[in-house]
Amino acid sequence: VGKPDPILTAEGVRRSFGGLTAVDVEHLEVQRGTITALIGPNGAGKSTLFNLLTGFDRVDRGRWSFGGRAINGRRGHQVARSGMVRTFQLTKALTRMSVLDNMLLGAQRQFGERMAGALWRPGWSKQEAANTERAMALLERFRLADKRDDMAGSLSGGQRKLLEMARSLMTEPDMIMLDEPMAGVNPALVQSLLSHITSLRDEGRTVLFVEHDMDVIMGISDWIVVLAQGQVIAEGRPSDIKSDKRVIDAYLGA
Ligand code: ADP
Ligand code: MG
Repeated sequence: VGKPDPILTAEGVRRSFGGLTAVDVEHLEVQRGTITALIGPNGAGKSTLFNLLTGFDRVDRGRWSFGGRAINGRRGHQVARSGMVRTFQLTKALTRMSVLDNMLLGAQRQFGERMAGALWRPGWSKQEAANTERAMALLERFRLADKRDDMAGSLSGGQRKLLEMARSLMTEPDMIMLDEPMAGVNPALVQSLLSHITSLRDEGRTVLFVEHDMDVIMGISDWIVVLAQGQVIAEGRPSDIKSDKRVIDAYLGA
């Protein structure tokens, strides 16, 4: 991590559920072109923070900007259009669609908003042809091309994660947010997922990911942000975080 060049900057982001303050982040920056890990015990607010920043949940207060533009208050599809996407788990509706249709849905840039109701429109346009071409190139890259016509629900746990990642790339995002991309994945596929994450950064994208496995985190992260009870309690390079007492306490105290 060299000279600071934040692609994402957030200030005073807060979200409560009833009496519980799930997220209360004073300041957060994600540097452009890095792999940044967001870690912390269960219930720390990691997923809620993702939902807030990407416009899929509403903050109580706070503002944040992406690529120098304020994007707080924008809805999920608008945030995606500005170049910041998060992955989505395969919902029940999506498991009943083909792998290729899942990819094409990712091209709509409104993913998450009309997820359940979105249907492939009849007819064929230049845009649709281009989307299909891009989808197939990504499926090749993620080694899912031979599954294009299979129901997404027939994929293994690891292949689903690959599909989620591939789908999120349909809109050519500058930043991609992955919430536990390794969860439920066969160890044999973990290395493959890790190298895909690394290649996202190597092609110039910014990655923010949530993960629990310390070896994984230490192995691929440029920067680590530690969240506990909704607050950033520490951040730094992997070598610094590993020996940080507050981090050890937050984990062991959970
Ligand atoms: P993490 O992803 O770090 O495990 P979450 O962001 O899922 O944590 O949750 C943070 C806290 O907010 C938890 O205490 C959780 O129970 C609570 N929470 C999250 N979403 C909701 C919700 N929609 N309604 C009520 N409480 C919620
Ligand atoms: Mg979570």
